[in-house]
Amino acid sequence: MASVVIVGDGPGGLSAALFLAKNGQQVTVFGQDKTAVHYAYLYNYLGIPEISGSDFQKTARDQVERHGAELVEDEVTSVEAGERFRVVTAEGRTVEADYLILTEGKNPKLARSLGLAETPEGAIAVDSECRSSLDRVYVVGRSIRPNRSQVVISAGDGAKAALDILAREEGKDVQDWDTPPKSS
Ligand SMILES: Cc1cc2nc3c(=O)[nH]c(=O)nc-3n(C[C@H](O)[C@H](O)[C@H](O)COP(=O)(O)OP(=O)(O)OC[C@H]3O[C@@H](n4cnc5c(N)ncnc54)[C@H](O)[C@@H]3O)c2cc1C
Repeated sequence: MASVVIVGDGPGGLSAALFLAKNGQQVTVFGQDKTAVHYAYLYNYLGIPEISGSDFQKTARDQVERHGAELVEDEVTSVEAGERFRVVTAEGRTVEADYLILTEGKNPKLARSLGLAETPEGAIAVDSECRSSLDRVYVVGRSIRPNRSQVVISAGDGAKAALDILAREEGKDVQDWDTPPKSS
């Protein structure tokens, strides 16, 4: 089992947390539920005809916790890269993890503090699986596309990062596919 720290509790971070926790990884998500989604009313999330951003967040947070991720209401103030990643929070917690997913939204301060490569436009640069320029560090959501940010895209990015971590841990590609429960 790998340990994963996720900084940010918007749709990008929560989606990554869902896929990882559901598949048995140890997941800690830091954030204070201050995502921009609370200002949104969603008509463009496929499969959900309409929902307020706050209701979407509440459902997502409950879902993630039900699958075993830990949501910690705290701000991460620094990250250090080494053999493992170490994050320190405003309330004085220190947590270490094998992987780091940064999903800080429009102002990716921690990503910049790690010296991650950036695009010419000033977004954090990642590959198609949301891997940053530093091994085992992923950046998802608005931080990698500040001017083309949508909830469904951040959620998709989180899923991509999570599947990549699961594949690394398994040593082969992974698909998180389920089928309907059998009726009794
Ligand atoms: C008024 C408004 C209306 C919108 N309407 C829509 C819409 O209709 N449809 C749509 O698809 N999108 C809409 N959006 C955009 C949508 O909100 C974003 O696409 C989405 O929030 C991006 O998700 P994210 O997870 O990438 O980042 P964010 O939602 O920005 O989440 C980042 C989270 O990380 C937290 N964080 C940052 N740094 C730290 C740290 N150091 N420690 C702990 N936590 C940290 C932040 O507080 C935040 O909670 C709207 C946005 C606004 C402002």
